[in-house]
Amino acid sequence: MLQLTEIFYSVQGEGTWTGTPAVFVRLAGCNLACSFCDTDYALRFVATVPEIVAQVGAEGGDCPMVILTGGEPLAQTETPALIAALRADGRRVHIESNGTIPTALPDDVWLTVSPKRYLAPAMAARANEAKLIVDGRVPEEWSEAFGPHTALFLQPEGNKPANIALAMAAAQREPARYRLSLQTHKFIGVR
Ligand code: SF4
Repeated sequence: MLQLTEIFYSVQGEGTWTGTPAVFVRLAGCNLACSFCDTDYALRFVATVPEIVAQVGAEGGDCPMVILTGGEPLAQTETPALIAALRADGRRVHIESNGTIPTALPDDVWLTVSPKRYLAPAMAARANEAKLIVDGRVPEEWSEAFGPHTALFLQPEGNKPANIALAMAAAQREPARYRLSLQTHKFIGVR
């Protein structure tokens, strides 16, 4: 059984895959308790792996992309089994993680890491992209943790103009290193 908050069909609003339709599976709970956290990852229901795979199909039809998010999706022991079942069902699995729980992932799983207080080196090395939240400052200290193949996105917290200006300036100062990620789904009022 996995613990879940919600499953819904929307569009990826952030990072490399912005604009791509995706089914979001939000797993409940997190191993961190960040003071600034504004994500609702409360436990709303439990489901087996086959039930989740069926619900993904019911929500998104044959949508190839499924995003496991949270909370922290790698904090549950059955998450690897869910990843395997979704891949067997023909889905491309994406994980949005805080990068603190070392987890072996198949090569075709896309890993987004948004570092918070600490980072597991194995997850930093595995990350396809990193989302660095700009909130009053650019957290440049994290960028050294990731390898050269990891796309580094600066994401202004809350799309606030001051944070956008900080992120823009850093990206323009180091254009080979940073890209800007905006929460585009919020522009159009979807989850
Ligand atoms: S890691 Fe993310 S989901 Fe977990 S408490 Fe921190 S901000 Fe919230």
